Order: sequence, then C-alpha cells, then structure tokens
Amino acid sequence: MTHEFKTENPLVSVKKKIKTACKSLGETKEMYLHLSQPERMLEVSIPVKMDNGLTKTFKGYRVQHNGSAGPTKGGIRFHTDVQRDEVIALASWMTFKCGVMDLPYGGAKGGVKVDVSKLSVFELERLARGYIQAIAPIIGERRDIPAPDVNTNAQIMAWMVDEYSNLRGIGQTLFASFTGKPVEFGGSLARNEATGYGVAIMMKEFLEHKTINISDTTIAIQGFGNVGGYAGTYIQQFGGKIIAVSDAQCSLIDNDGLDMQKLHKYYHEHNTISGYDPKKEHDRDELFKVECDVLCPCALENAIRLDNAEDIKAKIIVEGANGPITSDAEAILNEKGVLIVPDILANAGGVIVSYFEWVQNLHNYYWSFEEVQIKQYQKMKEALYKMLAMMSEKQITMREACYMYSIRKLAKVVKLRGRCN
Ligand code: NAD
Repeated sequence: MTHEFKTENPLVSVKKKIKTACKSLGETKEMYLHLSQPERMLEVSIPVKMDNGLTKTFKGYRVQHNGSAGPTKGGIRFHTDVQRDEVIALASWMTFKCGVMDLPYGGAKGGVKVDVSKLSVFELERLARGYIQAIAPIIGERRDIPAPDVNTNAQIMAWMVDEYSNLRGIGQTLFASFTGKPVEFGGSLARNEATGYGVAIMMKEFLEHKTINISDTTIAIQGFGNVGGYAGTYIQQFGGKIIAVSDAQCSLIDNDGLDMQKLHKYYHEHNTISGYDPKKEHDRDELFKVECDVLCPCALENAIRLDNAEDIKAKIIVEGANGPITSDAEAILNEKGVLIVPDILANAGGVIVSYFEWVQNLHNYYWSFEEVQIKQYQKMKEALYKMLAMMSEKQITMREACYMYSIRKLAKVVKLRGRCN
C-alpha cells in the first residue's frame, strides 16, 4: 500500500514514533510489536441504492487500535483518499492522544472511500446507515464509540445513532454509542467548537510558557473547516492576529489581520473562503510562505513536506490536523529550531469533549456550555504542562514527550492485564 501515498505513508510514520518511544522507555521488542499493530480491523463493502435506482458499492473500514485502557474511540471519515493504512495510522494516533489526555479510552478510526460532493443528501444518509449496519457487530457504547471526522458531522451521527439503536432492537436510543451528535439529540454543548478551541488554548498557553503574549503574534491557518474555522475564531478572541488562512481552493492574506467571525460566517454560507475578498486572494499554498510567528496546519495529513518545509517562516507550529508534517519535513523544521506542538496534544479538544459527551449521555445529566469549556481548558492546560515537564527532564521534542508519556502508561496497563511483557 505504501506506494499509493504521494508523500509518506502515515502508518510508517506512526510506527517509527512508537519504536523510538519504546526504545527510549526500555520496552521490549514484543511490546513495540504489540503497540504498533491494531487489535481489530474490519474491512466492509457497503451497497447503497443510489437515487437513479442503481446500486453502488463503497469500501469502508473500522479499526480498533488498542482497547487495553478502556473502550476505543475515534472518528469516521468520508473521503476519496481513505485507505487501510491511513485508517490504522489514525486509529493509532487516537490511542496515544487519549493517553496524553489521561482519558479512559483506547484509539479507533473509521473511514469510507467516497466523494461526498457527488452524493445527494438521501444517498449520504443511506451510506451512513449502510456503514453502521456493516460495522455494528464491533461497536457499542462500552466497546467502541465513533464520532465525526473529515466530511462527517452531527447530522450523520444522528442517522448513525438511529440506525445502531434500531439494529440493537431493544427499544432504546443508545446515545452513548456515538459522540459529536446534535445538541438536540444527546450532543454536548461546546463539542462542535472543541477541537478548534483546543488548538487556540494550546497556542495561548504555549506562548505564555514562552513568555510571549498572544496579542503580539501573527498567525497563519491552513484549512478552514471545523478545526481551522473555530481555531481562528478563538485565537482572535484570545487576542491573536490571523494574517493568512487557506482552504482547498485558495489562500487569503492580509497583514492587517482578517476578521475571523465574518470569514467563518462566509465559509459556512459558501463552503469556501474563495470570493470573500478577491483583492486578498492568492494561490492556496502561498500561505506556507507567509512571514508569521505561528502556523496552524488544520487541513489533512502530509501538508508540510520536503518540498515546502524550507519555505516556512513561523517559529512555532501548532498542529490542528492529524499528521500534517512528514518525518523528513519535521527533521528540517527541528534543525531550523521551529517548535512543534504536536497533533496528539494540540487537537485533542475534540476527543476530550467527546468524552464529556459520553459521560453526560451515560448519566443523562447535561452541562452548560461554559462548564464544558472550563473543564476542557483545565484538562488541556494540565496535559501541556505535563508534556513540558517531560520535555525538559528528558531533553526531547514535545512530540517525543507525548509518545513517551502515553506509551509508558499504556505499556503498564498492557502488562497488568497480562497481554504482553
Ligand atoms: P473539515 O472537512 O471540516 O475541514 C477541512 C478543511 O481543510 C476544509 O476547509 C478544506 O477546504 C481544507 N483543505 C483541504 N485540503 C486543503 C489543502 N490542500 N490546503 C488548504 N486547505 C485544505 O475537517 P476538520 O474536521 O476540520 O478536520 C481537519 C483535520 O483535523 C483532519 O486532519 C482531522 O482528522 C483533524 N481532526 C479533526 C477533529 C474534529 O473534531 N473535527 C478532531 C481532531 C482532529
């Protein structure tokens, strides 16, 4: 499968990180092998009756990476590039992300290879329901709890809860079996904003740790979907100046700062930032060349690669997307002294509030928006300071600290359970 990736197979990259961490922790080769492979993997084909009456079959996956620490948790992605290795890598990242945040979960991920722009809303609903029929035997509120990811949203989670509850056939609505649901249907307040809000928290707190006031910084954000859009909104609320953003079509650059609230509203109405202000519009990847203090890649994997790493002027990168920097690009950035707040720390806001949503569903007791955001802020700040302590103790990068922290804890549980030594 490796040759199919234009740049780096994310599974190769995540395995390298597990290996390095296991070695530094003195874990056995058996432990490395145990942690670098998924526990359970389901490959499914999903027949969907299209609006024209013909049936089209889609390929889908659900991967459960490691359930030693608790039920597994992870999003479902609908994208043309979905493939097995990518889903395994994303499931592995989820395990370590939950570990860094001290959540009682292991990691999972799901995906369907599909171009959603070619589906009607009815076809999308049938695909969502068909996918759940296919993976229902291995998910559940105490077993594996999916959530939204790229191109899936709260409405799709609502269809999935409905389908899963019908399939279980016990006359109950199993809210806790999915997170990222609509607020009117068992969702948590502040879940939609959570990943972007978390990116903003990490940026603000990391800058403060470096004795830099966020109000004195300029920021560029690649990707303006759920993560990038809310990250921009909250960074601006904290006082940061966003001078560039991009989406799949173009970039917008303005050294005087872009108005995030207006742009976010425009994006929701038009599904792109293109056309917002044509005078400020540039080629999409011009964003990487912008002179700024902080860069936030919030689009997809492998955004920063060998061919553009040298262009980057930012001194700090806060990763909103999963795996946005390839290993060879990271080596260049490390050499240049760029500080990276890694994905499994910076974008964990989504899974934190998904955990809060699950807890609220299980208790049938719901919290206010402010309560959720205060709890999220505390959890992320605590995690950041734990990673900073580990970094300075071991003289390692923040990414290495995150993997070591997470793997040390997980390996302990795996040994306690007698699953590996
Ligand atoms: P999304 O579909 O809402 O948004 C993706 C954005 O990236 C869109 O604005 C799209 O136009 C843009 N984009 C795509 N290709 C691009 C390119 N080459 N250059 C610039 N922009 C490009 O997805 P999302 O939910 O915001 O997720 C983004 C990333 O964050 C993914 O890596 C996802 O796995 C990760 N993530 C998401 C969540 C979550 O809660 N949504 C949580 C953790 C991690």
